[in-house]
Amino acid sequence: MTDPLERVRRPEYTGENRCWPCTVTNSLLLSVLVGAVAILGRRTAAAAIAVVGAGAIALRGYVVPYTPRFAPRLVAALPIESFDYGEPAGGTGSLSDSSNTSDAATDAAAPTGEAVLGELLEAGAVVAEGDEIYLSSDFQDDWRREVRTLREADLATLAAVADEQTPPSIEARTRRGWGRPVLVLEGDDVEPVTLRRGVAIPELAAARALESRVESGAIRRAAGRPLRSLLEACPLCDGELTVNQSSCCGEVTPIGKTPTEKLVCPACNERFFIFDEEH
Ligand SMILES: [Zn+2]
Repeated sequence: MTDPLERVRRPEYTGENRCWPCTVTNSLLLSVLVGAVAILGRRTAAAAIAVVGAGAIALRGYVVPYTPRFAPRLVAALPIESFDYGEPAGGTGSLSDSSNTSDAATDAAAPTGEAVLGELLEAGAVVAEGDEIYLSSDFQDDWRREVRTLREADLATLAAVADEQTPPSIEARTRRGWGRPVLVLEGDDVEPVTLRRGVAIPELAAARALESRVESGAIRRAAGRPLRSLLEACPLCDGELTVNQSSCCGEVTPIGKTPTEKLVCPACNERFFIFDEEH
């Protein structure tokens, strides 16, 4: 018989995936509600709400409907230090950000988008048809195989893979902060780069799949970001990806701005590419 709790459990919002802004916001709202009911003299009702609400937050990640949509905005409006979502403001951390290092004398630093595309075309990893770029079926198979291997790995193993794929001066470590656990790439001459699991897996897998095709490590790392835009299946669950404009947890669209288009997995509540990102 299945555990009845399993039916209410939402793994996509709990455990490793727990979103702390949502949890904090919900716990605050819940305590306000419990307090209000208690003040009205309904002690039993207040206790029941507290138990059910805390249980729901523990099992489902949040209790107030649509919290992932409003909590980030609410939190952003509060006069407290903003939550760390494991990525720099305005963009998504990428393996390529670790290439801007001075020991890249042999490993051309920060290759241009044109250079990356040129190498990928030459290596037969992508093919051009008119204005469109597609993955070659060979490379797609290899990339997918690497993604499936890395998907099974824990964050510490991903950090070890990142160490192999980055210059020696870059140190990869794991960090569990307010948001989801992330990989952090640190070096003396570079800003620390944080990678969510949903970015680390496809980018590291791409770098590995390119090893036999592209000689330059900087190009292999820089290829990760553009290649993410060509993902067809979710690197985390193999589910279908969709392009949407809705804000998801951890992001705030300034008033008057249109949300950008994103390649997301609705099942994992994870985004893999932002189509107008500037770099
Ligand atoms: Zn997914």
